[in-house]
Amino acid sequence: MKLFIAGHNGMVGGALVRRFQAEPGVQLVLRTRKELDLTSQAAVHAFLAAEKPDVVIMAAAKVGGIHANNTYPADFAYDNLVIATNTIHGAYAAGVKRFLFLGSSCIYPKLAPQPMPESCLLTGPLEPTNEAYAIAKIAGLKLCEYYRKQHGVLYHSAMPTNLYGPGDNYHPQNSHVLPALIRKFHEAKEAGRPEVVAWGSGSPKREFLHVDDLADACAFLLRLDNPPDLLNIGTGTDVTIRELTELVAEVTGFTGRIAWDATKPDGTPRKLMDVSKLAALGWKAKTALRDGVRLTYASYLAELKAGSL
Ligand code: GDP
Repeated sequence: MKLFIAGHNGMVGGALVRRFQAEPGVQLVLRTRKELDLTSQAAVHAFLAAEKPDVVIMAAAKVGGIHANNTYPADFAYDNLVIATNTIHGAYAAGVKRFLFLGSSCIYPKLAPQPMPESCLLTGPLEPTNEAYAIAKIAGLKLCEYYRKQHGVLYHSAMPTNLYGPGDNYHPQNSHVLPALIRKFHEAKEAGRPEVVAWGSGSPKREFLHVDDLADACAFLLRLDNPPDLLNIGTGTDVTIRELTELVAEVTGFTGRIAWDATKPDGTPRKLMDVSKLAALGWKAKTALRDGVRLTYASYLAELKAGSL
């Protein structure tokens, strides 16, 4: 199987490369951003027509935390829309038979029932702080559904919950909460600072999936002959942001105070995936949050040491 992983230098793409490198009979096709600009329709179509992969996994996206999404909505919408249309239509035109499109749990309505089943898609308004990204991802997953319906190609989507793991973005303003906290607590401990400031109220609840578990779920999905159009991938359990900060403080060895900056947004109150469809198909996540945060802190320290952050 010739597999093109779009976005292999990102956190998700990196985990997919680790997972599929170990799979016998898989030939990986990878292109850096310099080699292939996914926002260029001509470049993407020409590349797919020349390579003719059997399978594409779409792990390339413009992603960011609550602040970045809220501040750069035009960039988040445009980049993600154009990447989706270029790769999906380009794959179809090149005769690619199978396409796995990845998005995120923020595609579901802000006030969706919790846990959120796949069927709650498009049943209510989105969370405003990440609407632009969500609109682009909804367009992408619907395109896959329509190409499957109209053309009979096996194009389907998986929506992972909040991901974390090696290769994450640790930007102080633009990252997601888990890497942001790892960095804040580590730097405060190193500098001997008595306080770390976390955002919002601490009461929102989030679910976190280790990225290696996501890669394993993708491998599982690609073995299904008739996968659902849309499938949630998560752990099925969530924690409050306050509980998460305490866990990250403990793992990083920070023993000072945690203060809460109420001027920062909380975002959606809760977003827990309903993973019953995935469980019924026979897959479940393996990495417990505490173990995953320990592993991620170790890879953060290794990346710091290697100067790659
Ligand atoms: P979201 O899941 O799309 O809301 O994005 P984030 O991962 O950025 O934020 C999740 C929650 O963690 C929000 O309620 C944030 O206010 C909260 N949070 C607490 N401290 C931080 C922090 O240092 N950085 C970020 N990004 N979020 C934080």
